[in-house]
Amino acid sequence: MKLILATRNRHKLEEIRTLFELPGLELSSALDHPEIPDVEENGKTFEENAVKKAVTLARATGCWALADDSGLEVDALGGAPGVYSARYAGEPVSYPANNAKLLRELTGVTDRRARFLCVVALASPSGQARTVEDRCEGRIIHEVRGTRGFGYDPLFVPDGFEKTFAEMEASAKHAISHRGRALQKARAAWHEFLKSDPSDWSDPTD
Ligand code: IMP
Repeated sequence: MKLILATRNRHKLEEIRTLFELPGLELSSALDHPEIPDVEENGKTFEENAVKKAVTLARATGCWALADDSGLEVDALGGAPGVYSARYAGEPVSYPANNAKLLRELTGVTDRRARFLCVVALASPSGQARTVEDRCEGRIIHEVRGTRGFGYDPLFVPDGFEKTFAEMEASAKHAISHRGRALQKARAAWHEFLKSDPSDWSDPTD
């Protein structure tokens, strides 16, 4: 069985590959399909974007596809950057610029509660999709710390820890992260998905 991961982000691919190794499952990624254009992530929710990415790739290749859509929600900013996390500071996408903007927006703010959210979509070759989601609660600190990971990792301290995601070993981050948890759920549900009747699944074109 072939499963294509609908991302070209090498950090995410590494995380997803570690967490989605299953016997008999051959993993490849959108990097192996340069002929298929990236989808525009213009959905209003993580779910919409994840489903769109997985379904587009599944239909184009005739294989099963897995996509994630994720981002950071900060309470004091009314949930921003949310679905706009990747391009928070505009184009071209720059993690340092996004982090600098987040710190600017939070100047003088004491309630720094935030969470990462992740929706994982699995799409069948005929383009039917199912989703699972999870989150990781934490807070935004006052300056960047750590060099591992990507995105907002240097500013995010998960609840129950003192280190930022960027100061943790990758395996420690995977064990508690939004993506790690959502992928564990997707992994657990994978066989159920295969056995179930895809006509019960959502069709995003409906
Ligand atoms: P997308 O899911 O590819 O649309 O990207 C969402 C954006 O959210 C990324 O570009 C990062 O800025 C941020 N993000 C998502 N997951 C993580 C994470 O695990 N660590 C840090 N930033 C993340």
